[in-house]
Amino acid sequence: MHLNPYGEYAVLLAASLANDFPSDRPGIIARARELGMTMDFTPADGDHAGVRQIVDDWLAVVDAKDPLERATLLNAQMAAEAAYPRMVDHDGEGWHLHYRDDNQTLPHALRAVISVGTALHLTTRGMGRLGRCAAGDTPGDPCAAVVVDVTRNGRQEYCSVRCANRAAVRRHRARYSG
Ligand SMILES: [Zn+2]
Ligand SMILES: [Zn+2]
Repeated sequence: MHLNPYGEYAVLLAASLANDFPSDRPGIIARARELGMTMDFTPADGDHAGVRQIVDDWLAVVDAKDPLERATLLNAQMAAEAAYPRMVDHDGEGWHLHYRDDNQTLPHALRAVISVGTALHLTTRGMGRLGRCAAGDTPGDPCAAVVVDVTRNGRQEYCSVRCANRAAVRRHRARYSG
């Protein structure tokens, strides 16, 4: 995978897995392909559960409000999986950097890509550019989707137009119901 300077696709992959976790290993592979990973991973028992654990660990970063806490959690995840950068050229991608060892299993490779990508995203776009959908802040609202803010102005609060509309309707009602 090409980690662009903003780490965007790696963070979007993590959010996609968190918001709609695939039911099996092929589903995880398909999602990784959609978001730009081209390589094959050595199959291993427990890949599916292993990736679930990585997503759960990553959600702790999402839910850490304090930048120092956020950075500390992410640094620990990078320390656990990421390696020094290597220049590689595989699957017709052209030369790019990997922040991990060769021949890693799916959970290891995803942890490295997601942690480094999230660190790039937060350090280049801003430490606050990751969180949960604001619709869920209202008691009783079920949305807990992760929002990766890659907008130019950095003001994306909702995971979807549907959630933004629901929140707008609530604000409207609150205003006019006295
Ligand atoms: Zn690659
Ligand atoms: Zn939402």
